[in-house]
Amino acid sequence: MTAAASNSPHPTTSIQVLPDQLINQIAAGEVVERPAAALKELMENSLDAGARRVEVELEQGGTRLIRVSDDGVGIAQADLPLALARHATSKIRTLEDLEAVASLGFRGEALASIASVSRLALTSRRRDERHAWRIEALGGVPGAAEPAALAEGTVIEARDLYYNTPARRKFLKSETTEFSHAEESFRRIALSAPGAAFTLSHNGRRNLMLKPSTANIRIAELMAEGFADAGVQIDEAGAGGFRIAGLAARPTYSRATRDEQYVYVNGRFVRDKLLAHAVRAAYEDVLHHQRQPAYALFLELDPALVDVNVHPAKTEVRFRDGRAVHQFVFHALNKALSRSAAEAGAVVVSLSGAPPHVSSSAPARPAPWAGAEQSRLGLEPPRAAYPSAVAQMAANYAAVAAVAAPFPFLPEDRVGLDASQPSAAPELPRTHSADVPPLGFALAQLHGIYVLAQNAEGLVLVDMHAAHERILYERLKHALDLAEMPAQPLLAPLSVPLAERDVELAGENADFFRRLGFDVAVLSPRELAVRSVPAQMVDLDVPAMIRDLVADLRQYGSSRALTEQRNALLGTMACHAAVRANRALSLPEMNALLRDMEATERSGQCNHGRPTWYQVTLAELDRMFMRGR
Ligand code: ADP
Ligand code: MG
Repeated sequence: MTAAASNSPHPTTSIQVLPDQLINQIAAGEVVERPAAALKELMENSLDAGARRVEVELEQGGTRLIRVSDDGVGIAQADLPLALARHATSKIRTLEDLEAVASLGFRGEALASIASVSRLALTSRRRDERHAWRIEALGGVPGAAEPAALAEGTVIEARDLYYNTPARRKFLKSETTEFSHAEESFRRIALSAPGAAFTLSHNGRRNLMLKPSTANIRIAELMAEGFADAGVQIDEAGAGGFRIAGLAARPTYSRATRDEQYVYVNGRFVRDKLLAHAVRAAYEDVLHHQRQPAYALFLELDPALVDVNVHPAKTEVRFRDGRAVHQFVFHALNKALSRSAAEAGAVVVSLSGAPPHVSSSAPARPAPWAGAEQSRLGLEPPRAAYPSAVAQMAANYAAVAAVAAPFPFLPEDRVGLDASQPSAAPELPRTHSADVPPLGFALAQLHGIYVLAQNAEGLVLVDMHAAHERILYERLKHALDLAEMPAQPLLAPLSVPLAERDVELAGENADFFRRLGFDVAVLSPRELAVRSVPAQMVDLDVPAMIRDLVADLRQYGSSRALTEQRNALLGTMACHAAVRANRALSLPEMNALLRDMEATERSGQCNHGRPTWYQVTLAELDRMFMRGR
């Protein structure tokens, strides 16, 4: 062997078994990559030990100290060093146990991992012992057990996390960030065990104190303000011993991020794509794909039907029959959400400052005064080369014979409601409410955003973009259900510049675009030609829409996009095609919009889950002006 070879830092000939401490430190990288992960493991151990009370104390975001105290069964003196040994567990013995594991832990490596990267102390007392015992470990090497004082249960302290692994320590973020991660771990576990009491302190200050209570109260305590009030109760049992319970927020309480999504499988918080997808699918009709639903859901099933041994952190699971689970969860949520939508109807604004309450005045079915010829699909054969969306709405309006106002058909987009336009809003005596459509007749447009209308109850405020988007979305869905989206040729093909890979992707998926009503072809490596657009999709920024659809294709995977993500795609399209703010609408156009809303299912909510209209009653106006009646 030459001198050079023997000095090589990477000898290729000698394989060595790694020392235990290094093995544990490697595992620690997966199991306890930050204080929050260590906290999760310690709290899980407390719950596995049957604790009814779990106290968490943190210092400096958990990096200086994590202390978890519980009143669980405790650990016998003889077992103390074993608790810190790798692959030592009291929770499973055999492969059969593993395959039907009901405890949160089972891998027997959390304490070993935490001990290997911290100064750990473990104090515990079993009920049958006369006093407690304590062992300390430095870098994973346990000292001798010594008698200690502790009334019951177990206290585990992990100090100076990663003191001996500087590389990992460098990945730690600020104290505030680490604490907020730890707080999230705490919240997840506390949500899963509402019957137990929990406290959380940070740097000596009490942060949270949770008394034993019910699942709903625990949810209200731990999730964002307003969530529980917006929650629809889920409780559904299915074949095969499936059960799902919890709260799912109505779509009006949607969020920009996934921060309020908690899913548990047999009491274990999981991040599972299949479950998230099932829930998302149930929201699809009422929530725009850019908005996130909020929920806390607890799925229970035979442990033998779910593999929890997928990842060291145990936050992933694999279902034996994923399709059955997906269907069950989807149907449970879908049922509850549509039930709540039916009960909710429209939101009636209260001017007294109280939160909006709910009335049942929303017209869910086509109103009798919506003429039969008014196509609910809105798919008239293409007219002029590029009629405006509002012109189509106006055309629908023309079919409503009951409305006497002269109907100016508008081939042009931009028809302003200027001062010279006579006010065509009919006078509506309050007593003849039967003649007034539910959403009334348009009075004016406010700041290019809202439509004001008068109905029998008083004033109706409509978010015109949101309402129009909802209508388009439902029409697109119907159209796609029926067959293909009717396409409308463009007078001259439009060239859309795109990145090369996007042109390629779009070219490969021309069929996908065709089914949505777009005739696309590759023009050059960086240019896509668009020859037709969907008949609904008029008045549209075609390049922006194509870019969004290509992005969707990329994200969802081309082959499945249309079947699985159909509604999300249609949502994208509707959002693009809906009338923009600051578009001046004429009164007939506004009335057409109101009639379309009445004829459209679920028009009380836009695809983003926001309400599309509010009712302000005369009584509320009277109260506002202190008009005694
Ligand atoms: P696992 O939880 O996978 O079994 P751990 O390393 O987390 O592995 O814990 C090892 C063992 O230590 C557990 O199996 C359990 O017997 C014991 N143990 C850990 N924490 C507690 C606790 N808070 N109360 C009682 N026993 C505990
Ligand atoms: Mg454990």
